[in-house]
Parts: sequence; structure tokens; C-alpha cells
Amino acid sequence: MQTDVENMDLAIGQARRSLAEGGIPIGAVLVADGEILGVGHNRRVQEGSVVLHGETDALEAAGRLPASIYARSTMVTTLSPCQMCTGAVLLYGIPKVVVGENRTYMGAEDLLRDHGVEVVVLDSDECVQMMQAFIADNPSLWNEDIGEPDLPPSYEQVE
Ligand SMILES: [Zn+2]
Repeated sequence: MQTDVENMDLAIGQARRSLAEGGIPIGAVLVADGEILGVGHNRRVQEGSVVLHGETDALEAAGRLPASIYARSTMVTTLSPCQMCTGAVLLYGIPKVVVGENRTYMGAEDLLRDHGVEVVVLDSDECVQMMQAFIADNPSLWNEDIGEPDLPPSYEQVE
């Protein structure tokens, strides 16, 4: 059976693939009983998708599964899961989430814990560096992904 770190390496590979496609570098893997059920990465840029984050893309890739499988599965994601992805984890009764890092963005980890989900934060420097480099180069895309308002393009000239 793979360790959380080995599963995270797969998720990081997905994040790097997204980056290579011009997308946001967030990846995720859904595993159960040592089997990879689905892998995914953020597809906001690549497909103009508003719902395919790393986690939801991995769920979609895994396809329809019985509740008994979700109940034994773990969601592994490079970045602390947002409210939407947290909602999907809670809806399907996934009992464990492994997070690459939450320094760049703190998602709804408290909500997960409040519902009895085990949250393991690996605090991976590799995940942090990947996000920090991306956000420095693409602040607007990042704000869009987490539903934050962005400064208008002409903001600095207006001053
Ligand atoms: Zn999300």
C-alpha cells in the first residue's frame, strides 16, 4: 500500500502536468485500498471549467462509485481544499484528506474536521514553492480560481 507521501507525489505530478498545460498547478488523487481510483488536476484554464479543481477532477476521473468505496477512500490534494471540494468530500463521505500544504491557501479544513474527516497536512515545501511561483506570475488567475475579486487592470494608473 502506498504511503501518503507516495500518493502526494502522484498528485504533485498532476499539478506539474497542469502547469505544463498552462494551467493552475493543483493536483489530486483519489485512492482506496491501495488502488488509485482517479487522478486529476485543476482545469480552469485548459477547459474554461469553473468546477474542475484538482479534487473534483479526480472524483470525475474515478467515475461513479458506490458509497462503500468512498467510505474507504482518501482524497490526496496538493493544496488545502476549497469549500467546493470540501463539500464534495463531505457529500460522498470520504473519511480522510491528505493536504500538500495550507500555507498558500487555507481551505475549509475546519469544516472537514468538524464532520469527522481526518485531515493530514504534509506541509510540503515542494507544493508551497509550486504555488508561490505560480501566484507570483499569475495573480489574477489565482484570485479567479478562489473566487476573490481582482484589482482592475488599470488600477495602478488611476492613482
Ligand atoms: Zn476546490
